[in-house]
Amino acid sequence: MNILVSACLMGLCTRYDGKAKPYPGVIELSKNHTLIPVCPEQLGGLATPRPPAEIQEDGRVINILNEDVSAAFKLGAQIALSIAQSTRCVFAVLKSRSPSCGKGQVYDGSFQGRLKEGNGVFAALCTQNDLPVYTEDEINDLSSSVLNS
Ligand code: SF4
Repeated sequence: MNILVSACLMGLCTRYDGKAKPYPGVIELSKNHTLIPVCPEQLGGLATPRPPAEIQEDGRVINILNEDVSAAFKLGAQIALSIAQSTRCVFAVLKSRSPSCGKGQVYDGSFQGRLKEGNGVFAALCTQNDLPVYTEDEINDLSSSVLNS
């Protein structure tokens, strides 16, 4: 099956700091499945490296330089979703806590390393469009029925 994944989890240096976050469980998935890597923030036109950004109380995405990058986040999320749909991805494995890819928890907007409940811009869009999202922490628990469906 085709599975959409956050590009940084596959070892691509797409993060805001120019680094990757390779995750062994994601690499493992590539043995039996076709992984489609995307970085919504790059697809939205943001540079790498780039200033870190967090979702504010009002829903805007602001970077640490106080620039509003909401439009780039939304554009990148739309493009990444269209890639998922056109390649018929069955679900997505997205990087936890990211303002784009995070599911369930994201940083709270203070740039103090604090978390709050919520989804990243792309993870939320996936959910709204019925594309199931798992974090990298959840994939080790994915049942064989999910992986073999
Ligand atoms: Fe990784 Fe997603 Fe951040 Fe891109 S936007 S670096 S894929 S967590």
